[in-house]
Amino acid sequence: MVDAVIAPAVRGARAGVLPVDEDELVACVACGLCLPHCPTYRVSGLERLSPRGRIAAMRAVELDHAPLDEAFRDTIETCVQCRGCEAACPSTVPFGHLIEGANEALAAHPAPAADTRRTARRVAEWFGFTLVLPRNRLLLTATWVLLVAQRLHLVPRRLGLPELSADSLRTPLVADDPPADVYLFPGCVMDAWQRDVHRDALEVMRAAGAQVGLPGPGGDCCGALHTHAGRIAQARRLARRVMASMPGTAPVVVDSAGCGAAMKDYGRLLDTPEAHAFASRVRDFSEWVAAQPGELPLRDSGRAVVVQDPCHLRHVQRAQGAVRTVLAPAYRLHETADDGLCCGAGGAYAVREHALAGEIRDRKIAALRAAAGDDADRMVVVSANPGCAMHLGAAGIDVRHPAELLAAALVPSEPEHPDA
Ligand code: SF4
Ligand code: SF4
Repeated sequence: MVDAVIAPAVRGARAGVLPVDEDELVACVACGLCLPHCPTYRVSGLERLSPRGRIAAMRAVELDHAPLDEAFRDTIETCVQCRGCEAACPSTVPFGHLIEGANEALAAHPAPAADTRRTARRVAEWFGFTLVLPRNRLLLTATWVLLVAQRLHLVPRRLGLPELSADSLRTPLVADDPPADVYLFPGCVMDAWQRDVHRDALEVMRAAGAQVGLPGPGGDCCGALHTHAGRIAQARRLARRVMASMPGTAPVVVDSAGCGAAMKDYGRLLDTPEAHAFASRVRDFSEWVAAQPGELPLRDSGRAVVVQDPCHLRHVQRAQGAVRTVLAPAYRLHETADDGLCCGAGGAYAVREHALAGEIRDRKIAALRAAAGDDADRMVVVSANPGCAMHLGAAGIDVRHPAELLAAALVPSEPEHPDA
């Protein structure tokens, strides 16, 4: 059955439709060991919504001249890009590269605007990716409009927008005096919607003894959402801008797992010595904290939290251990038994594929509640990715960032004695 799907694809000549490496494309041996790790396969049971089915579809297009039609588009666009399959694959198939190439090809061949839904989606994507995300002032202005709409109860809860704060929006982050030991990268959407998490991250980094700098102009949108959507040319432009905003050799700390994963991949995205050097400076927030020489002054909070591993922290950055290392002195950590299965957030996926994302989230929430045990009703979940936090938050889950939990557990420093 599987051979029937795969075999015709590997016979044909390379068509060059998908910008993928042919060796990577044919590396899949169709063993199926990745299937239990795929959230869309788990909820649908469909081969075409599994990693193996998606690779077969890519091979059919690339090697056997199958069309870039609606069926192919659906097979590719329903992928959350969690890369759980990549982490599970014994043949080390780099699924992330393949799905990125497939999405890039689809972005270059947009489907005709056949109906109002399709037209609305194209307008929304242009508005988001081209107009707003690369222009930080416009994003902040749009956030003020959203804040007013939220106060008037015009924003549906299912969209997962966090409770926006006027105080937070009008109070910018403040860098320490130069030279910086380390940068904190605030990003675009996270800085507009969850700036208080950055304040907590700054507090923790200062408690660790660091002088923290912030990026100069252009250090906002990292291009992660663009890469996810196959808009690679735009992602490259944004990556160059971000790199120029943080010159020098200081580490770049990122408290969004999705952004951190994208920035660690700038070397591959741009393939320049500068991009490789920049990528080597990028650290997830918890990864950086865990690597500091001294111990943070933390008290035992006595509280329990359930750990949710964002896919881009666990499967891509492979830095999930650091979250546990930094939180363990202050919190009792509960683990899920689902092997880090995706929550269904996936960049703009939760908005675009709302029904599928909801089914995937239901499974995740069941795993989180099981892990919380007797605390399930007052469960607090820790997640290092703003997208996961919003997606789970939209279902009523109390989600905190590791920086929030650490800042809450910091022992206040002694005030200096006036007579000293
Ligand atoms: S585990 Fe790897 S080789 Fe096996 S089907 Fe999945 S992607 Fe292909
Ligand atoms: S990236 Fe995630 S959703 Fe996509 S095929 Fe792999 S496991 Fe499934």
